[in-house]
Amino acid sequence: MIIVMKTEATEAQVLTIQKHIRELGFKDHLIKGVERSVIAVLGAVYPELIDEFAALDGVDSVVRVSKPFKLASREVKEDDTVVKVGPVEIGSGRLVTMAGPCSVDTEENMIETARAVKAAGAHLLRGGAFKPRTSPYAFRGHGEKGLKILAAARAETGLPIVTEVMDARDVEVVARFADILQIGSRNMQNFALLDEVGKAHMPVLLKRGMWATIEEWLLAAEYILSHGNRDVILCERGIRTHETATRFTFDVNAIPVIKRLSHLPIIGDPSHATGKWYLVPPIALSAVAAGVDGLIIEVHPNPDQALSDGAQSLTPANFEKLMDQVRTLAEAMGRPVAPPIDELEKAVKTS
Ligand code: PEP
Ligand code: MN
Repeated sequence: MIIVMKTEATEAQVLTIQKHIRELGFKDHLIKGVERSVIAVLGAVYPELIDEFAALDGVDSVVRVSKPFKLASREVKEDDTVVKVGPVEIGSGRLVTMAGPCSVDTEENMIETARAVKAAGAHLLRGGAFKPRTSPYAFRGHGEKGLKILAAARAETGLPIVTEVMDARDVEVVARFADILQIGSRNMQNFALLDEVGKAHMPVLLKRGMWATIEEWLLAAEYILSHGNRDVILCERGIRTHETATRFTFDVNAIPVIKRLSHLPIIGDPSHATGKWYLVPPIALSAVAAGVDGLIIEVHPNPDQALSDGAQSLTPANFEKLMDQVRTLAEAMGRPVAPPIDELEKAVKTS
């Protein structure tokens, strides 16, 4: 249920209503919009509550939310959520790109990649230090040492870092180094982990479970949002279908569906969706055409030597080529690529 306040409602009236919600044993969530505030009432609400709250001072209307996900829903929050990561804004209508290797390997490779993707116009650096691998014998990441390498690359280039956390016990250490906590596809329904990143109060990139419906995905986002962390970015990374020609099937439908159902930003991951580097550009462009707020792309200076996902990694030169195409298409779609990170940084400093 959501309580829509009148545009002229006072802060005291909002507080009185929040208190009343808590007295009744429900949770409240205040969402301050441009024009008016909305209070979400979370819990097993019953129809009589609608009349009870509608009669209170400052209330414009009370509406039941029809969807099982509440805080993630556009019914509760109409305007798009913009997630801020340093000077970068995700969901603002300007496309943002994240790029880097699947796994962090050496500091030299990481810095070379960071410089190259920055020169091509990337806004964030990706790289895994804790890697979810299907086989326990595959390379599982450098752990904290990998996080330190990422931090060195950030210090060198100014690119904020997005990196995966796989275990609720590691949230503290990963949060110390990361700018965005990534929840991988395989952990989309690791509810203990979702609870923990919800409490971390920093941006979270929530990848879609490869088996998950859109509703299950938004309910996973709801776990994070329900802890008061509003900075959730969704990532479509391909789902399992009967098709074996590609690693997964990129669900381009999910992009406009999410835009309709939710206010959260959504980015596309054509690397994991296809599994093949030469399929990354067309699928990246399809995501842009469908309206993503950003892309996350695997790039390695020597894909053949990458410790994971080399087959789907672009070389820096191919990434640069793709970025040119993304810029042209994004411009034509009226959702241009955000300016380079150094310009964004400068704009923040002079504002
Ligand atoms: C990754 O980003 O490297 C990764 C493991 O992705 P996913 O969780 O989508 O498989
Ligand atoms: Mn990968």
